[in-house]
Amino acid sequence: MTQSSKSQYDVDLFVIGAGSGGVRAARIAANYGARVMIAEEFRVGGTCVIRGCVPKKLLVYASRFSHEFEDAAGFGWTVPEASFSWPTLIANKDREIDRLEAAYVANLERSKVKIVRSRAVFEDRHTVLLSSGEKVTADNILIATGGWPHMGPPIPGIEHAISSNEALHLPELPKRIVVQGGGYIAVEFACIFAGMGSEVTLVYRGENILRGFDDDIREHLRNEMQTRGIKVLCGHTVTAIDKAGDEYLTHLSDGQRIAADKVMFAIGRRPNVMGLGIDNLGCKIHEHGGIEVDEYSRTAVPNIYAVGDVTNRVNLTPVAIREGHAFADTVYGGKPTRVDHADVPTAVFSEPELGVIGLTEAQAREQLDTVDVYKTTFRPMKATLSGRATRVFMKLLVDGDTGRVVGCHIAGPDAGELIQLIGIAVKMGATKADFDATMAVHPTMAEELVTMREKAASYSRRAAGRAAE
Ligand code: NDP
Repeated sequence: MTQSSKSQYDVDLFVIGAGSGGVRAARIAANYGARVMIAEEFRVGGTCVIRGCVPKKLLVYASRFSHEFEDAAGFGWTVPEASFSWPTLIANKDREIDRLEAAYVANLERSKVKIVRSRAVFEDRHTVLLSSGEKVTADNILIATGGWPHMGPPIPGIEHAISSNEALHLPELPKRIVVQGGGYIAVEFACIFAGMGSEVTLVYRGENILRGFDDDIREHLRNEMQTRGIKVLCGHTVTAIDKAGDEYLTHLSDGQRIAADKVMFAIGRRPNVMGLGIDNLGCKIHEHGGIEVDEYSRTAVPNIYAVGDVTNRVNLTPVAIREGHAFADTVYGGKPTRVDHADVPTAVFSEPELGVIGLTEAQAREQLDTVDVYKTTFRPMKATLSGRATRVFMKLLVDGDTGRVVGCHIAGPDAGELIQLIGIAVKMGATKADFDATMAVHPTMAEELVTMREKAASYSRRAAGRAAE
C-alpha cells in the first residue's frame, strides 16, 4: 500500500469486519473525510444481513402463511389445500440477500470506503495482515468481527448438529427437528419450523425458556408454542446424537431418545476474537468473552476500538449500528458520543411475537421501592372468527413513586412493531398517567395499553418493611 502525505499510515481507519457495526462506522468515518479500508472474509453485511435477522425474518414471514390459510376459513374463504416449497423459499431468500449485499457494497463505495475481501489479523497495533500477505498500516483500527454460534461442550455426535447458519440453507424442510436452547434463536427457529409444518421438539436446560425475560411472558409464550404443537422439554440437555440411517437419535439427560431428521443447537453465540492477534497487543478480554471497551468503544489500546457483538454488550443489530456510528462521530466527527444501552426495545420473532422494553417484574421489584403491575390477557378480535386458540398478553410495570412506566411486555401479533413505538414513550420517561391520557385507537390490540386501569398487583418495600417492624 502506498502511504499518503496526509498521515504516516496507509489509511486513517482500518475496519475488520463488514457487518452492521463495521459498515456503519466505516461509512460515517469516510463521510467525515477519513481514508477508510474495510476487510471482510465472508460476505459484506455480516450476521444480520447474511445469516441472521434478515434471512430469519423472511423465514418467519413464510412460516406464518400456514396460519393465515387456516384462519381464512372463518372469514368465508375457501383456500385449496396449500403446498409449500422450501427450495423456492430458500432460493428467493438468497436472491434478496444477494441484492442487499450489493446495496451494502454500493453504499460503502459511494462513501469511498475501500473494501478488501480478505481476513485481516493484527500484526501490531497499527498494522494488519491480509490473507494475501499484504500489510496495511492504519492510524486507528476498529474490530467489528461479530460473533459465532457456540456449539457447547463436546458431546458424542456433536458433528451432526447444525447451527442457525446451516438452518438457513437446508436443502429440504426437515419433517422432524430437535432444537436445543431457550434463547432468541432457539425459540424463533422452533416457531419457524413448526409454522412450516415440521414436528418440533425444543429442549431447554432451565426451568423455562427465555431466561431474562419477564416470567409472565415466558410462561405465556411457552403455552402458546405448546398449543401450536411444539413440544417444549425444559430441564433437559442433549447428551449425545447418533446417526441411524437417514435419521438422528437425540439422547437427552433423562435418558429419553428422540428421533429427528435434523438436530439444531442454538445455545448462544461467542465473540469472534480467536486468531485476531490481539493477545499480545494489550487489548483486554472481558470475563463474558467480549473485547473490553470503554463507553466510547475504545479498547485498552488507545488506537484500537471495538463495536458490536465482539464486545458482547447488548448483542442486537441496532445497538451495533449505534456503536459504530458513535465511534465515528467521536473519533472523526469531533462529537464525543456515548451509546445509551439502557431501555433497549427488543423483539422475539416467535409465534406469537414478543416485544419488550425495560424492566421485568422481578427486576422492578428488586430495584424500586414501589411497583405497580398492570396486565391483561385477551382473545384477539381476529381469533373470534378464525377460531384460533390464541391470546394476547400485555403487561406494564410502573414505578409507584414516580408513576413512570419502567417496563412493557407484549406477546401478540406485531408486538415487535408495537414495542418500537412504546419504546419512544418509555425512553422519554412517560408515566402511566401519560398512557392513560392518550386516546385509544379502536378497535386495535394496542388500545389495551392505554386502557388498563386496574392494578393486577402492587408491591411496596416500605410497607413491607413497616409490617415487619
Ligand atoms: P441466547 O444467549 O439468547 O440463548 C442461549 C440459550 O442456550 C439459553 O437458553 C441458554 O440457557 C442455552 N445454553 C447455553 N449454553 C448451553 C449449554 N451448554 N447447553 C444447553 N443449553 C445452553 O443465545 P442465542 O443463540 O439464542 O442468540 C444469540 C444472541 O443473538 C441473542 O442473545 C440476541 O442478542 C441475538 N439475537 C437477537 C434476535 C432478535 O433480536 N430477535 C434474534 C436472534 C438472535 P440459559 O438460559 O440457561 O443460560
